[in-house]
Amino acid sequence: MSLDQVQVAIVGAGISGLQAARLLQKKYRVRVLEARERVGGRLCNHQFTNGDTVDVGGQWVGPGQDRMYRLIEELGASTWPLYDSGDNLLCLNSKLRRYRGTIPRINPLALADLGIAMARFEAMAKSIDPTAPWEYKKARQWDATTLDTWLHKNCRTRLGRELFEVGIGAVFAGEAKDLSLLHALFYARSGHSLETLLAVTGGAQQDRVHGGTAGLCERMAAELGQAVQLNAAVEAVEQLPDGRLRVRHQSGSVVCERVIVALPPNQALRIRFEPELPAWRDQLLQRMPAGACIKCIARYDKPFWREEGLSGQVASPAGPVRVTFDNSEAGRESGLLMGFLEGDVARYYSNVDPEQRRAAVLDCFAQYFGERARQPLEYVDKDWSSEPWTRGCYAAHLAPGTWTSYGPRMRETNGPVHWAGTEFATEWFGYMEGALEAAERAADEVAGALARTSGRLELVTA
Ligand SMILES: Cc1cc2nc3c(=O)[nH]c(=O)nc-3n(C[C@H](O)[C@H](O)[C@H](O)COP(=O)(O)OP(=O)(O)OC[C@H]3O[C@@H](n4cnc5c(N)ncnc54)[C@H](O)[C@@H]3O)c2cc1C
Repeated sequence: MSLDQVQVAIVGAGISGLQAARLLQKKYRVRVLEARERVGGRLCNHQFTNGDTVDVGGQWVGPGQDRMYRLIEELGASTWPLYDSGDNLLCLNSKLRRYRGTIPRINPLALADLGIAMARFEAMAKSIDPTAPWEYKKARQWDATTLDTWLHKNCRTRLGRELFEVGIGAVFAGEAKDLSLLHALFYARSGHSLETLLAVTGGAQQDRVHGGTAGLCERMAAELGQAVQLNAAVEAVEQLPDGRLRVRHQSGSVVCERVIVALPPNQALRIRFEPELPAWRDQLLQRMPAGACIKCIARYDKPFWREEGLSGQVASPAGPVRVTFDNSEAGRESGLLMGFLEGDVARYYSNVDPEQRRAAVLDCFAQYFGERARQPLEYVDKDWSSEPWTRGCYAAHLAPGTWTSYGPRMRETNGPVHWAGTEFATEWFGYMEGALEAAERAADEVAGALARTSGRLELVTA
């Protein structure tokens, strides 16, 4: 067992942990401890046999995500816009209709109903301060309501609700019944608006990164060199009598003055703290469950749907694949169709034999784009709920009541323990941009604390 001494240990080499390390490494001795044998966490590449690299985790960046675009530039990477020309498809009762934009053409009553519900939701989201959602005068009432309850009151037609739910699935990888209304409003506000989160051009699905977003993490790790330790699953954080911390991992220990936990909340709960974290922190983490999503990608010789004037984007309340995108990389020949299984559908297909799952996904692709879509050259899917060290995605959400009971203390430090990761962001919570924001805040806190408290004891239970 080796024993290392650094000033700051960072648990997790996702984009958040790596960014915190980059910011601190200029001045301090830093170690990033990563459980997997790769960096990137929820950002992950898959390589098809022809050399195409595809993101099986997070992939898009869009306007307003300034930190991400800056990082991409700093690392010498580049982006391309997702293919967003031609008609989108709406699949209703097994029939396909073409449309443009984010809202499909449906019967006027359902269209008006959906439009009014979305406008109401946007107006409510706008009234929330994403740095303190618990402060809004109706915060308690909204936090005690699920998004599902609100939707049933505010969207009276079944079709209007079903289409709203397609959007919710795509944005949250969850169901309306899972979400506190206040959290849903906060989330939309934190990424500017629901419209922004749903849109391609001008929205959160606008751009892709050549080499995959995991490629960014690999470049960050290369800069950090020996400071990143793989296969180092952290098991315990123990406070020593002199106030420093011993971070025990699967192949040794690191002694440090400060720890940044940059993990999904469900993974942070699996680490043993000694002394224990305060009860409120544990209770908060317990109320931050992850969404569920299986990301599915099929490769064809070319994006053949474009020849028929189709964008590759589908909305289908019946699913099981409820949304699809043309994921083909600019400058490469292959046609790549990507679809999500989300929420309850992802929970179901997580327990289904992978071959059956593949067949169900390709059935959908064939229904939307014709029989040719049933026979891809290659296919890959990734079930993030089954994935060790993540166990759900895209991110955690706050269960009903959590923002108002625990929100004000969410980003507090626990003595020498600091919190990063996308779930601790105020802007773009759940997105890579949020992960960078949280990293900056945690790195600032650590730098401030090291300047202030060097050599002085601060208890984990603080
Ligand atoms: C399918 C999917 C689609 C998504 N789409 C988008 C998108 O298009 N755009 C976008 O901006 N975001 C998207 N996201 C969300 C985005 O991926 C995340 O917000 C972001 O990657 C989170 O980064 P993080 O560093 O906070 O956490 P993570 O990436 O989860 O990093 C945490 C790290 O900690 C490690 N770890 C866990 N436990 C331990 C332990 N005990 N010891 C040591 N290490 C540990 C993990 O292995 C992991 O590397 C998507 C996510 C998924 C899964």
